[in-house]
Order: sequence, then C-alpha cells, then structure tokens
Amino acid sequence: MIFTGDNIGSVRQHVIQIAKGLNCLEPVRNAGTSYATPCGQCLSCQVFESGNHPDIIYVAGTKTSGIGVDDVRQQMILPMSTKPFRYQYKVFIIDKAETLTPAAQNALLKTIEEPAPYGVFLFIAGNITGFLPTVLSRCAVKRVQDGIVVSAATVDPALINFAEKISAELSQADIFKAFQIYKQFEPYKESKDNLQEILNQLYVIYSKKITDAAASGVLPQSVWLDAAKSITKTKQILKQNGNTQLAIELMLVTLTKS
Ligand SMILES: [Zn+2]
Repeated sequence: MIFTGDNIGSVRQHVIQIAKGLNCLEPVRNAGTSYATPCGQCLSCQVFESGNHPDIIYVAGTKTSGIGVDDVRQQMILPMSTKPFRYQYKVFIIDKAETLTPAAQNALLKTIEEPAPYGVFLFIAGNITGFLPTVLSRCAVKRVQDGIVVSAATVDPALINFAEKISAELSQADIFKAFQIYKQFEPYKESKDNLQEILNQLYVIYSKKITDAAASGVLPQSVWLDAAKSITKTKQILKQNGNTQLAIELMLVTLTKS
C-alpha cells in the first residue's frame, strides 16, 4: 500500500499508527475505519515505542541516490523469507519511497505481487510520479489528509465535479483554449483550500488514468505522467504564495490533450 499526501509528517504518523495497530495485542477496532487503533499499552506497542520492534522494520536507502536494489534485497526481500519473530505480521515501512530506483522497484515486483501471508509493505511517498506503472498497478494508493485517509465522500462534490469537467475539457483543448479554461477558476481563486482540493481531485483523475492503463497492461501516456507532476508542482507554488494565475495557467497548458 502506498500512502501519500501534502503533509508528509502527517502521512508518516498515520502509517506508523497502522503498523503499530497491525501487531498490537489489544487493538481497538473502530467502526468506519479499516485499520485498528493500537492500544499503546501492550508489549508490542511498548516495544515499538522503544524503537526495537523485531517485526516492524524501517527500510532506508544506504546511498544518496535513493533506495537501490541492494537495499531492497537486504532489507525487504531477504527478511520477508523468514516468519515474524514474535508478532502477527512482519511490517515493512518504506519511508521516502519515491526515491526507490526503477531497478529496485523491479526487484520488488514479485514480492509485492505474492507477499508472504504475514508480510505487509507500507510505502510512504511524497508523490507517486516516480513509481513504475507496474508497481502502481499492484499497490493501493491512499491519500492522507489531516491525519485521515481521505475518501471521496469527505470532499465537496462540487469540487470533484469541477475537476472532472476541467479535465474533460482539457483533453480536447489546445494551448489557446487552456487560457480560456482558466477563467472558470476565477470563482475559486479566493479560497486556497478550494484551489488545493481542486488540484487534489485533478491529481486523482490523472493518477487513476495511469494506474488503469498499467492495470490493463498498456503503458500510460507520458502526457498523464507530466500532468501528475505538473499538478504536484502547482500545488507547491500555490502553497508558497506564488502567482496563482500564472501557476494554474502553466499547469493547464501542460494538461492540454491529456
Ligand atoms: Zn497494543
């Protein structure tokens, strides 16, 4: 499972709770959430807090180039071949998963596809654009916002509809049309939250195109990959109080014919 979101600290916290909950001896099951809340008291929870949990493994790159093939073999594939030391699951937390090299991702494919029954991979990624389509098609991608996994139901449907309309128009548009499409953003310009959510929804649309293509065995169009990257970049510019109009117009131009 790949977890992503704007606030990577919050994503990390969320993933840690899931890892802890998986091996907790007295987990609290909450209605409406798919993950158990760890009790914080049992031996597993306490050992985890002490930083020495034998079955929750942090994976990190040993080179500056990112998490490479050797890292993946030594820290994931090899340990996966033995059963958990004491608890129910062997949980691998892969932080900065966007730095997994393509070769490392390829090396992982078989293990992701046929994990041991006790094996759980939790990837934490600042963005998903660096993942191979073959990896994306084998992993569920979850977006974490304000400490919760966002489902479509928590987002204003008007913003989802607007993003879908924009993406449909862009798929048919040329560069000149892209500037006209920007005018439709005017009513949303005053609310940063709304703008960010529209961009989130656009990102979901293009991520889905990429994963759907990969799932059906075709290569995703490079224009979708560019779109996803461009949306991520635009979100950052807006957060840093950059020029809203310029940033969105540039993004719309990138998204034409997509
Ligand atoms: Zn516990």
